[in-house]
Amino acid sequence: MPDTLPSVSAVIVAAGSGTRFGGERPKQLALLAGRPVLSRTLQAFEASRVISEIILVLPADWLETIIDEAVKPYGLTGVKCVPGGENRTESTRRGFEVASGAIILVHDGVRPLVKVDLIEKVARAAWEHSAALAAVLVSDTLKKVKDGLVSKTVDRDALWRAQTPQGFKRDLLASALAGAQAETATDDVGLVERLGLTAFVVPGSLSNFKITDREDLAMAEALLSSAPAKLPRTGHGYDLHRLAPGRPLFLAGVEIPFELGLLGHSDADVMAHALVDAILGAAGLGDIGLHFPDSQARWAGVSGSALLKEAMAKARAAGFELVNADVTLVGERPKIGPYRQAMAEAVALALSVPANLINIKATTTEGLESTGQGLALAALATATVQDRR
Ligand code: MG
Repeated sequence: MPDTLPSVSAVIVAAGSGTRFGGERPKQLALLAGRPVLSRTLQAFEASRVISEIILVLPADWLETIIDEAVKPYGLTGVKCVPGGENRTESTRRGFEVASGAIILVHDGVRPLVKVDLIEKVARAAWEHSAALAAVLVSDTLKKVKDGLVSKTVDRDALWRAQTPQGFKRDLLASALAGAQAETATDDVGLVERLGLTAFVVPGSLSNFKITDREDLAMAEALLSSAPAKLPRTGHGYDLHRLAPGRPLFLAGVEIPFELGLLGHSDADVMAHALVDAILGAAGLGDIGLHFPDSQARWAGVSGSALLKEAMAKARAAGFELVNADVTLVGERPKIGPYRQAMAEAVALALSVPANLINIKATTTEGLESTGQGLALAALATATVQDRR
């Protein structure tokens, strides 16, 4: 999760203007299932919560066209675009010069099927080991061929195919690029090797291949069409606690000054509890009673914020990230208008998401029911999550 990593910049290198497609347009603009290849690559990085900025290195001649066709129409407004250099190393350098992250991930613009999960694994490995790359073990038998004839079989033991992303601690990539003034490597880890250092291998995925010709494009189309659509999922939650004297009142993680508080085994934060149920429901993980039973002493007095944090960790472990949440308090008093922003921020902090994903509101019940008579407060919540596996 984002808490353990410093800022990560993604440098997407898409500076080649050549094409083996036979057309005149660069392959990063080729349509893959109706969208430019490059826009899909960018979307994968945009979807990762560990990435704090995206820098896109483009061929100078095509800069405006690519921005107009593959960046702007897809809402990728935060992407910084810079012109590339004469070769791969020079293009990486141009991207690096504007990157501010403590970790730099370099990725080929034409590997559009990269998974969010792989991006994050390489970022973490780079932070731990200073340099890391995605790679896949070679499974085919390798032959050395001369003039159309096999001259020898290469021992494939311990042979891996390098992919991207490749990740580096900032200072290491700076040294690697500085040491590469006159020479270039076909990948960025190659520059680190020239310093006599090595990189950690993160098992990549066969689907994370580079699109270099029409056949690759057709293969990527087939993979995309066979993947089941991952639709957002929604859960709802409801909770009610009695109001009683002599108890503090916690609502959505914020202590509210009021003459009554809510009764319960925990801090009885009715809004947090409804949202915990909504998150668990959206992730298909049952309910609050299953994960945090009243019968267990360890949950006695536990705060609503702590339960939200635990529930979100369980949802993330199951592969889900929060899209948004909406929480409604039901009751006559206290009025929570002045606390809405603080509540949204407290919930967001507990869930490790931006506060603008959380909406807090309230309603009354016309003086009817326990909530209308001041005997209890109830809360309703919905949470929407997205499958990020
Ligand atoms: Mg409750």
